[in-house]
Amino acid sequence: MHIHFLGTSSGVPSQTRNTSSTAISFDKTKSWVMVDCGEATQHQLQKSPLSFFYLDVICISHVHGDHCYGLPGLFSSMAMNGKKSAVHLIAPKEVISWLHATFHMSDTKLNFDLITHDISEMAGSSDFNFCDIEVIPLKHRVSSFGFKVSEKLIPKKLKIEKLTKDGIKSGPHYNKLQKGEDVEFGSELLLSKDYTFQSWQTRRVIVCGDNEKPTLVANWCYDIDVLVHESTFTHSDLHKVGFHTGHSDAKRVAEFAQLHQIPTLILTHFSVRYHGEHGLECLRLEANHCYCGNLILAEDFFIFSIEKIKLHLEK
Ligand SMILES: [Zn+2]
Ligand SMILES: [Zn+2]
Repeated sequence: MHIHFLGTSSGVPSQTRNTSSTAISFDKTKSWVMVDCGEATQHQLQKSPLSFFYLDVICISHVHGDHCYGLPGLFSSMAMNGKKSAVHLIAPKEVISWLHATFHMSDTKLNFDLITHDISEMAGSSDFNFCDIEVIPLKHRVSSFGFKVSEKLIPKKLKIEKLTKDGIKSGPHYNKLQKGEDVEFGSELLLSKDYTFQSWQTRRVIVCGDNEKPTLVANWCYDIDVLVHESTFTHSDLHKVGFHTGHSDAKRVAEFAQLHQIPTLILTHFSVRYHGEHGLECLRLEANHCYCGNLILAEDFFIFSIEKIKLHLEK
C-alpha cells in the first residue's frame, strides 16, 4: 500500500508545491484512490507512476477550490483519452452539482460511468472491491471530511494442519478455499474463513481534509498505520493569523498522534510562507518536540510505502 503526494500546498500553488491531492495505491490491484484534486492535479499525475485509467474512486474532502478545482480538467482528459471503467466520486453535493453544470456548459461527454455519492449521506464503511472507505466528519470553515482507507485484496494462506486434522485431503477444493470460496466436501460445507488466514495484516491509512480539530479523528485511528493530516501553520503563526481559518498547526497534530500512538504521521497542506529552502524546519521542530513516532513532512511526488507485517498461523 502506497501513499502518493501529488500536491502539498495550502490554498495556492507555488513553484515547488501544487494544491492538495493525495493518492493511495495497492499491491494486488492497479486500481487506486484519489483524495482531493486541486487545480492541475492531472499535470502532477503525468509525473507520477499512477495512470488515470485505473483511477476508481475519487474522494473530495470539502468544497474549497484548492481541493477540487482539478476535477473538470481531469475528467475531461480521462474522457478524451478513452477511459472506459467507472469512477466513483464521493464528494459534497455542491461539488457534484458544479461538475455537472461544468460538463453541460462545456459540452463535455464522459464515455465512462460517473457514480456520485453525496458525502453527507454516507454512513459507516463503503465497500469497494479492492478497499473499504470510511468517511470521518471534521471541523473547518465549511463542512469537511477525512477518509479512512483499508486494503482488502490480501492473499490467503491455507491452514494445512487443520485441513489434515479434519481429514480433508488436498484437491481442487484447496484452491477454492484459498481464493475465499466456501466449498462442498462430501456432505459438509467447508467455510473458507475456517481454513485460511491472511498472509499479512490489513494496512489502513487516514487522509484528512482541512481540519482545525485533530481530536475528531480519535474514534477512527486506533488501528491505522499512517495519519496524513494538514499542518497549515506552526502553533504561534496560527495564533497570529487566527483560528477562524479553520486549520491545524504542527504542535496540536503531533500531540494528537503521540497520544494515540500513531506509528507514522505525515504532515501536508503547508502555507506558502514555509515553501522556501529550510522553510519547513520550524514545523518539523515543533512536531518532533511532541511526537516520537515516524514523522514525515510531505513533498510533492513523495511516495510513502507502508510495509507489510506478515502473519503466521498460531499453533
Ligand atoms: Zn485547503
Ligand atoms: Zn479548506
